[in-house]
Amino acid sequence: MSTNIVFIGLGNMGLPMAQNLVRAGHAVTGFDLLPASVQQFADGGGLVSDDQAAAIQAADIVITMLPASRHVLGAYLGDAGILAQARPGTLLIDCSTISTEAARQVGRAAEEKGMPMLDAPVSGGTAGATNGTLTFMVGGEESALAAARPCLEIMGKAIFHAGGSGCGQTVKICNNMLLGILMIGTSEAIRLGVANGLDAKVVSDVMAKSSGRNWTLEVYNPCPGVAENVPASRGYTGGFGVDLMLKDLGLAMESAEASGASIPLGALARTLYDMHSKAGSGGLDFSSIYRLQDTPA
Ligand code: NAD
Repeated sequence: MSTNIVFIGLGNMGLPMAQNLVRAGHAVTGFDLLPASVQQFADGGGLVSDDQAAAIQAADIVITMLPASRHVLGAYLGDAGILAQARPGTLLIDCSTISTEAARQVGRAAEEKGMPMLDAPVSGGTAGATNGTLTFMVGGEESALAAARPCLEIMGKAIFHAGGSGCGQTVKICNNMLLGILMIGTSEAIRLGVANGLDAKVVSDVMAKSSGRNWTLEVYNPCPGVAENVPASRGYTGGFGVDLMLKDLGLAMESAEASGASIPLGALARTLYDMHSKAGSGGLDFSSIYRLQDTPA
């Protein structure tokens, strides 16, 4: 059955996710602040409209994939926000990575309006978004997840219910802190091998079959020339930006402060991505942290 879906935020992740919903036969109307992204969506068969309020009012499901907490709060709350425009009963799914607190704030406001809402951040990168193999980490009511499942299954292959509102974001923040740390560790290890005369591919292949094995090494290798179809092989373009990783490590710091958890490696990783961003690399894929070590200490 075709569902009437509004998808807001057609960036690196949102565009391929929305395109998969279109390919599955749903009527998806896409919105983004960037006209070029909207055009790309239309070129692939997506619906576009000049009237976002009317599209939201007619929607069965509204999905958002926006950069950070402030964009999500801005999109949902206020007089012109999604909650003011959607009909009661409309299913709301925010797939952005934002703070647990912001997710709960929007979730509470949605509940007051009679709209079931899930925080459903994702893992799997742009390749996962393109191939429909994302992992969804979901917070919210079981009944809302049951209603969302057919749609999430088109965009992803693993769907985890982490708990109530905001819990999807908490587990996503834990995951991305680990990812940020692993990318730095993988970069250091490959560079150590190369500095000692080894070929980067040899070091990577051996470690990928040894105990240093991890996703940043096997699927998303940060050293140019080792793997095909990864950001490192195309000048660190596309993928997951340094500034988005920096945002996620900031969320980890906030969560640690709020809970009293100790995250010394997360804090160090944040400092290194911050240095890298300030050196002008904020828009590059986060695997470009490999290059930070080009800078003499
Ligand atoms: P992106 O910056 O490429 O895309 C965000 C899009 O949102 C942009 O096109 C922007 O124009 C649009 N936008 C911002 N405000 C808007 C508004 N009010 N209305 C309509 N459009 C608006 O970011 P991305 O890489 O697609 O990431 C999106 C989210 O997914 C982030 O929270 C990120 O942390 C998370 N994420 C990204 C990846 C990845 O690999 N890129 C992986 C997992 C999770």
